[in-house]
Amino acid sequence: MWESLHTVRQYLWRYRRGMALGGLCLVMKDLAQALQPLMIRGAVDSFRSGAAFVRFAGYLVGLALIKGIFQYWMRVILIGISRDIEFDLRNDLFAHLIRLSPEYYARTRTGDIMARATNDLNAVRMMLGPGVMYWFETSLTFILAIAIMTRVDWRLAIFAVMPAPAVSLAVILFGRVIHDRFEKIQAMFSDISSRVQENLAGVRMIRAFVQERAEMRRFEELNRAYIAQNIRLVRVQGLFQPLLEALIGVTFLVVLWVGGQQVLAGRISVGSFVMFNTYMGMLVWPMIALGWVVNLMQRGSASLQRINDILREQPSIAAPPDAVSLGAVSGAIEFRDVTVDYGSGPALCAIDLRIPAGTTLAVVGHTGSGKSTLVNLLPRLSDPTSGAVLLDGIDLRRVDPAELRRQIGFVPQETFLFSATIAGNIAFGVEGATAEQIRRAAEMAGLAGDIEGFPLGYDTLVGERGITLSGGQKQRTAIARALLREPRILILDDALSAVDTQTEEQILTHLAGAMQGRTVMLISHRVSTVRQADAIVVLERGKIVERGTHEELVEAGGYYAALCQKQMLEEELEAI
Ligand code: ADP
Ligand code: MG
Repeated sequence: MWESLHTVRQYLWRYRRGMALGGLCLVMKDLAQALQPLMIRGAVDSFRSGAAFVRFAGYLVGLALIKGIFQYWMRVILIGISRDIEFDLRNDLFAHLIRLSPEYYARTRTGDIMARATNDLNAVRMMLGPGVMYWFETSLTFILAIAIMTRVDWRLAIFAVMPAPAVSLAVILFGRVIHDRFEKIQAMFSDISSRVQENLAGVRMIRAFVQERAEMRRFEELNRAYIAQNIRLVRVQGLFQPLLEALIGVTFLVVLWVGGQQVLAGRISVGSFVMFNTYMGMLVWPMIALGWVVNLMQRGSASLQRINDILREQPSIAAPPDAVSLGAVSGAIEFRDVTVDYGSGPALCAIDLRIPAGTTLAVVGHTGSGKSTLVNLLPRLSDPTSGAVLLDGIDLRRVDPAELRRQIGFVPQETFLFSATIAGNIAFGVEGATAEQIRRAAEMAGLAGDIEGFPLGYDTLVGERGITLSGGQKQRTAIARALLREPRILILDDALSAVDTQTEEQILTHLAGAMQGRTVMLISHRVSTVRQADAIVVLERGKIVERGTHEELVEAGGYYAALCQKQMLEEELEAI
C-alpha cells in the first residue's frame, strides 16, 4: 500500500497545502471527538451538583458542534483533492496514451486501455480520497482514545487494546487476499471491456456471419466468470467485517466485566466507567472502517499498478535529447541499406533507394511485398531494424518526429475520419485553415463535387455519428487532408484503390499541379497511376527487384511489364 502511495507522491505533493489544511481539520475533528467522553465522565460524576452538570453538558454540545464543523471541512477539502488528483491523473494518462507509438496499440487491446482509464482510475481516486482520509482519521481516533484511557486506568486500557494484534493480523492476511482477488477482477473487467469494444467495432461482421448467438454465449461466459470472481471477493470481505466486529464485541464484554468490578471495588468512579464504555463504542466504527479502508487501499494499489503499466510504457519513437533541426526542407530522400524485421523474418531487406528532391517515385508490388512498410518509415511510424532513412542527408532518428511529420502529407492505406464535419476532417492538424483553403484542397482531391452534393455541404458530419462516406470518398478526404498542409513530401499509400479508373484519372490530373515541386512517394496497383512517375520500383518479398522509368521497365519485360500488359488487356476488354 505504501509503495503505491509513493508512486503518486508527485500528485499528492501538488496539493500539499490543501492536504495540510484538510489534515488540520481532521486532527481538530478527532480531538473534539476524543474529548467528548471526558465531558461525559464529568457530567456523570457531577450528577448531584446541578451547576457542574449543566457546564459539562454545555461543553459536550460545544464539542459536538466543533466536531461537526471540522468533519464537514475535512471531507470537503480532502475528497475535493482526490477529485483534483483524479483530474490530473486522467489528463496525464491521456497525454501519455496519445504519445505512445503505433507498435504499443498493435499489442494492446483498446478495451483494456478503456477499463484502466475508467474503473481503475476510480479505484485509485477512492484510495487517495476516502481511503487515505479514513486511514488517518481512524488511526488518530485509536491513538487518542487509547492515550486517554491509559491515563485514566492503564489496567483497563490494556484490556481495551487486547484485540489490536489480532486485528493487525487479520488486516494483513485479509488485505493480501483482497488485493489478489481484486486484481483478478480488474483484469477480467478489461477482458469484458475489450470484448464489448471489439464486438461493437465489428458489429457488421458479426451480423454478416450470423454470430450474434455465439458472441452472446461467449460474452455470457466472460460475464459469469466476472461475477463469480466478484462473489469470491465478497466472500472474504464478508468474513473480514464480522471478524472485526466479533473481536471488538468480546473486548466490550471484558471491559464491562473488569471495569464493573473496579467500580464496585471503588477503584474508579462511575463516570470513568461510563467514559471507558463510550471510548469502546467510539472504537467500533474505526474498527469497521478499518476493514473498509484496507479494502479501498488494496483495490487502489492494485489499480494503480495497472495504470502504472501504461505510464511506464515509453514511446519507442521519440525526439532524441540533442535533436537536429531540419530547417528548410528541400525533400531529398534516401534509404540506406534499410532492413525492417517485425520479428518474423525481414519485411524489407537491404533497401537502397534515392529519391531526388521534387521528384515522384512510384512503388508497385504484390500485397505483402513491403510497400506500406517502406513508406511508413518516412514519418517514422516505425524505425528500420538496421540501416537508415535520410531526409536532406539527415538521419531521421536525429530529428524531432513532430518537426519531421509537419513536413509530410501522409495518406495511409487505411484512413480514419473523426466524428466531426467534413471541413473539420480535412483541416485536421492545420489550425486556422480558411474555408477557401479547405475547398481548394477538396477540389484537388476530386472531392469538392461530392461534398457540394451533401445537404449540409462542408458542414456535413462524418465519422461515427455522421453520414457514412464511401471508401473512395474517405480516401479522397484523406488526400485533401494531406494536401491542405502543403507538405514538402507527399506520401500516397494506395490512396486511390477505392475509386474507379476514370475518377482516378481526374484526380491525378488535379494532383499533378499539387505534386509539382514536391517529393512524392506513390504506391499503387494501377499502371495508369504510376506511369508518369520519374522513377518506378517493384518490390517483391521486401526486395527491390526492378527499377527504372515506365518505358525502361516495359522494355525489361519483368513483373512491371506483365502488369502493364494485363491492365491494358483489361482496359480493351472493358472498352468492348
Ligand atoms: P504491402 O503494403 O506491400 O501490402 P506491408 O508493408 O503492409 O506490405 O507488409 C509487408 C510484410 O510485413 C507482410 O508480410 C506483413 O504481414 C508484415 N507486416 C506489416 N506490418 C506489420 C506489423 N505491424 N507487424 C508485423 N508484421 C507486419
Ligand atoms: Mg500496404
